[in-house]
Amino acid sequence: MDFSETDEERDLRSAVAAIAGSFGSEYYLRCAREGRHTHELWAAMGEAGFLGVNVAEAYGGGGGGLVELSAVCEEAATQGAPLLLILVSAAISAEVIGEFGSEELRKRWLPGLADGSTKVVFAITEPDAGSNTHKMATHAVRDGDDWVLNGTKHYISGTDDAEAVLVVARSAGGARIDTARTGRKPDGSALLSLFVVPVDSPGLVRTPLPVDLIAPDKQHVLHFDDVRVPAGALVGAEGDGFRQVFRGLNPERITGAALGVGIARFALAKAAEYARTRQVWDVPIGAHQGVSHPLARARIETELAALMTRKAAWLHDRGLPAGEESNMAKYAAAEAAIHALDAAMQTHGGNGLASEYGFMPYWGMARLMQVAPVNREMILNHVAQHGLNLPRSY
Ligand SMILES: Cc1cc2nc3c(=O)[nH]c(=O)nc-3n(C[C@H](O)[C@H](O)[C@H](O)COP(=O)(O)OP(=O)(O)OC[C@H]3O[C@@H](n4cnc5c(N)ncnc54)[C@H](O)[C@@H]3O)c2cc1C
Repeated sequence: MDFSETDEERDLRSAVAAIAGSFGSEYYLRCAREGRHTHELWAAMGEAGFLGVNVAEAYGGGGGGLVELSAVCEEAATQGAPLLLILVSAAISAEVIGEFGSEELRKRWLPGLADGSTKVVFAITEPDAGSNTHKMATHAVRDGDDWVLNGTKHYISGTDDAEAVLVVARSAGGARIDTARTGRKPDGSALLSLFVVPVDSPGLVRTPLPVDLIAPDKQHVLHFDDVRVPAGALVGAEGDGFRQVFRGLNPERITGAALGVGIARFALAKAAEYARTRQVWDVPIGAHQGVSHPLARARIETELAALMTRKAAWLHDRGLPAGEESNMAKYAAAEAAIHALDAAMQTHGGNGLASEYGFMPYWGMARLMQVAPVNREMILNHVAQHGLNLPRSY
């Protein structure tokens, strides 16, 4: 297994760093605090082709994969711009539509996703079905040439900034409405399908879901009240949703891991600079091991997480099993980011809490990565069951 960095990838990383760095953390923090989208940065990244590096060239993308997309995500976050919507729009939606969507869906959505002019966000979480997708209640019923969706999704990021939502719903064809509403397949598993639903569809009502995360992207509750979409909105085959979701979740986890690695590197760079220059006794504070060791430990964790992120992306791009690696990368990166921020804030003393130094918004984003897109306990469950062959615990 050789997943060493190529010259092209090095060039990509430095080009992303140059553009994201020209906006910098000041720009990101301003957007986050004012609650406005990072449209200017997103557009610049899109024009440069960075947001579509994983989209096929035939649809205007770069023809690469998750190795490239995670590099984009990581480098932007390292410059202080962790772009949450890369995880949903560029990673999960573009990957799922690209792999399973009909030609009609690909032509409709991929070019805009590739140049960043369109966003398609992702809706799976429901009030009564978070970690347990099998309890999902949102359902789609075939009616003539259409599908009709009903149900509620919550915590859906970026729906006020997107053209469409990739929605996961139960389905069971027109003739088996009861199965779609309540049911499962005979083996007890849910029968899921994915639909691309324009945000302005009649019957789709969006209400804000306030969170105390200081970030540019907002979360919403989405109510689907007889939302009607044409048959062509179905992604791939009806009932194939579980496989599609699982194919899409790895990219989401890998880019989530890249986000965590980038945030950690950003925090450590700031902390190291501060520790080199701040002097309260006779030496810079970085000379005290009480300051340097937590930073060094976080750097070790960060670089290990970066390696696992790279491995997961490399496996995914080759169509090899990448579930455990994607999970481990996301877990390790979220932990590394939290430890890096904690050490960086401690290094800054009182300044660690000052708005001027701006750590709290990044801490919130890193903390989110311990919960979403999948929480760390579900990752431990996965590794215990699949990596260690232990009994399933839930
Ligand atoms: C800011 C933000 C943005 C989000 N964006 C999106 C989005 O764009 N699209 C989307 O679909 N969702 C989104 N989510 C939802 C997110 O993916 C879920 O919150 C997450 O998957 C956890 O689901 P839950 O909140 O229902 O937690 P629950 O499933 O209720 O779990 C609660 C806690 O219980 C523990 N737990 C649960 N099950 C087990 C188990 N079997 N073993 C051990 N411990 C367990 C875990 O610690 C878990 O954190 C977002 C959430 C937030 C906060």
